[in-house]
Amino acid sequence: MGFSTDAIHAGQHPDLVTGAVITPIYQTSTYAQEELGKNKGYEYGRTHNLTRQSLETNIAALEKGKYGIAFSSGLAATHALMSLVKAGDHIIVTNNVYGGTFRLFELIMKDYGLEYSWVDTTDLNNIKKAIKKNTKLVYLESPTNPMLNLTDLEGASKICKENNLLSIVDNTFMSPYFQNPLTLGCDIVLHSTTKYINGHSDVIGGIIVTSNDKVHERIRYVQNAVGAVPSPFDCWLIIRSTKTLAVRMERHDHNAVKFAEYLVESEIAAKVYYPGLPNHPQHELAKKQMRGFGGMISADFGNVDKAKKLLKNVKVFTLGESLGGVESLISHPASMTHASVPKEEREKMGLTDSLVRFSVGIEDIEDLIEDVNSALR
Ligand SMILES: *Cc1c(COP(=O)(O)O)cnc(C)c1O
Repeated sequence: MGFSTDAIHAGQHPDLVTGAVITPIYQTSTYAQEELGKNKGYEYGRTHNLTRQSLETNIAALEKGKYGIAFSSGLAATHALMSLVKAGDHIIVTNNVYGGTFRLFELIMKDYGLEYSWVDTTDLNNIKKAIKKNTKLVYLESPTNPMLNLTDLEGASKICKENNLLSIVDNTFMSPYFQNPLTLGCDIVLHSTTKYINGHSDVIGGIIVTSNDKVHERIRYVQNAVGAVPSPFDCWLIIRSTKTLAVRMERHDHNAVKFAEYLVESEIAAKVYYPGLPNHPQHELAKKQMRGFGGMISADFGNVDKAKKLLKNVKVFTLGESLGGVESLISHPASMTHASVPKEEREKMGLTDSLVRFSVGIEDIEDLIEDVNSALR
């Protein structure tokens, strides 16, 4: 089936009792058992919940995977993935990942004996060079936040296969609509469903998708044994949202392409970072492994005062963390999402104090452009 058909139908069945078209919210902690040792396959809410299963089947279909395993946040899903390894194991990570991933690995999991190498994965040779005897996982994010660097996912997955490593891709920025890492040979996909998948800025959630039976078995066990499961209501909200993922992503992409062109042509910004621009260093790779360029743009305004003026005066854009919602958001990575990264490290990757990040929403593009224009006047 095509993406939109799967988005609307995969994992969705009319209710057996009433015929309700929409999967109900099974807001229950436990289930009545018929007799000792006999139940309908549902015993306890942490272990089984039909609203959650419906979400997992739905997103697994969109990511072209066999299994979906949902969590209460993107970081809970990332944390669950760390149970694929043991103390003494080594993990290679894209150096410019989501700040919370950095914090989880460096400030928490390291204390449990896991070893991390932070690598610029835009060059596949750096992955090869970082592999050690005890390497088990390669954790990639593409495109990255906020510099929008890409990793060649097909090339990286080949290196992983040759070296018997599992490849993981945080696909949050692209959503399954624009990029499917499993079809490029990667083993595991992770999403913060908080972002584009839910898309309405009203849920925190995460999901892992894989076709690897062993990985599924382990992560499914951990989902129940550790217990960071999403609520039935949150699952229901996310299912409602995936039905419109295709149309939302088309509009995010359409608006972002126009917005990036405006930033370049108006010369309002000194430098614009967007994989959809022909001058993006990995524009060709973007066209090869993605079906669109998404809604995230970063722009360097050349001086801090100009950036501050913009951040202060916008009215349609909302100043705030997060991304991927229908409403446009604007943020200042140096003082917000990436404040914990030392200034020299930030500057090295182009993350200057005058860099502004835009999550371009699905409003009328003319209003978004006029908002920036009038904010700077
Ligand atoms: C937000 C985000 C996460 C973390 O997800 P939460 O749902 O906030 O826990 C992970 N990766 C990326 C790329 C994100 O943007």
